[in-house]
Amino acid sequence: MDGSSTPGTSSTLGSTIDDLRRQNLAQVLRLVHRDGPMSRSEITRATGLNRSTIGGLVTDLSHRGLVVENAAPTARKVGRPSPSVAASDQATAIAVNPEVDAIDMALVGLSGRVLHRVRYQNERTPTVGEFINVVSAIIEGMRPAFGDVTVLGIGVALPGLVREVDGSVILAPHLGWRDAPIAQLVEEATGMRAIVGNDANCGVVAESTFGAGRGEGVIVYLNGGASGIGGGIVINGRLVVGEGGNAGEFGHTAVSTQGRRCHCGATGCLETEVRRDRFVEAAGLGDVELGALQAAMAVAWLDPDSAGAREIDRQVSRLAVALRSIVNIFNPRTVILGGHLAHLLAVVGEHEFHRRIAPTLPGEGSEPEIIGAQLDDELLLIGAAELVFAEALGDPTVMPTRAVAPALVQ
Ligand SMILES: [Zn+2]
Repeated sequence: MDGSSTPGTSSTLGSTIDDLRRQNLAQVLRLVHRDGPMSRSEITRATGLNRSTIGGLVTDLSHRGLVVENAAPTARKVGRPSPSVAASDQATAIAVNPEVDAIDMALVGLSGRVLHRVRYQNERTPTVGEFINVVSAIIEGMRPAFGDVTVLGIGVALPGLVREVDGSVILAPHLGWRDAPIAQLVEEATGMRAIVGNDANCGVVAESTFGAGRGEGVIVYLNGGASGIGGGIVINGRLVVGEGGNAGEFGHTAVSTQGRRCHCGATGCLETEVRRDRFVEAAGLGDVELGALQAAMAVAWLDPDSAGAREIDRQVSRLAVALRSIVNIFNPRTVILGGHLAHLLAVVGEHEFHRRIAPTLPGEGSEPEIIGAQLDDELLLIGAAELVFAEALGDPTVMPTRAVAPALVQ
């Protein structure tokens, strides 16, 4: 077809070579995205590709604005300094996390670093229309911070049930949103590509890429936010989404037969029994700031007779019921707790947590580590940005080259 000397196979061969190159580019980019700056020889060792191939791939990724090479040696290298290859923060995503109390937004670099952050405090729970207006106004305000970076799109981490294929929300109960085409509305208002995902899934993706859950194995994540409890599961680096996208909705695990009625219709769900506002109420704290809450919980815990300590004790016991089931079902390597649940863990300690969860199924060395989320309050924003970066990480050639030698571009 193209006049090559290997008739009949040339275009197949050509596309196979293109596919292979795309895969190699993606492998190198994902490596420095996840593991941070590396020298070319470290990349060579980690990928098993040869050194000259790595050189060509790094140059290509650099021309696409996805990696940068710095003269500084990588920290873990001894001997002759070698330039480090890092994911470029010139490639960015805008991350958005609407919650009942605030709309949190950030500009996030491809390295996973939050470059600029804006938190808009809601006076009341925003409607979809108000949310879209706030997002587009904040993006206008952020434009000077963009400088000469490339914004690949907008990622929205949404506390609710999301149809990932078109980015519409099916139901976000705490925001009161139902059947709204969020991705489409954000795109129309901003002129940028938008991708919407469930917030807890964003959280577990961020933690398993950059934080406490890095590496192989089964990672389970539960987050206690203003809207309730979300969760997610990652197995060997892959998010488990389930048939309808609902896998990991641990908030509706039954933990009490006599608990309060949940908005889902059931009684005694984890997210109605274990929540920060019930601690605030029990301890009589009124309008306590979120940042001061963990300290207030720690103080209350010191006095076992206080109403606050009794409430913490009740919540930890309820959480332990859910964790016992989760540990028995998934036999995870790591359980990561975020938000209010991380506060409960920090206040009572890992030892006490394990004591409450026992007995799980026996098995030498199979007891999971239970830890607080490492990425803390940037977690959902970093995860929302990952929604946007996924496309370029899967196929870096979607980014055009800004090559100095355009003749090389296919
Ligand atoms: Zn429920």
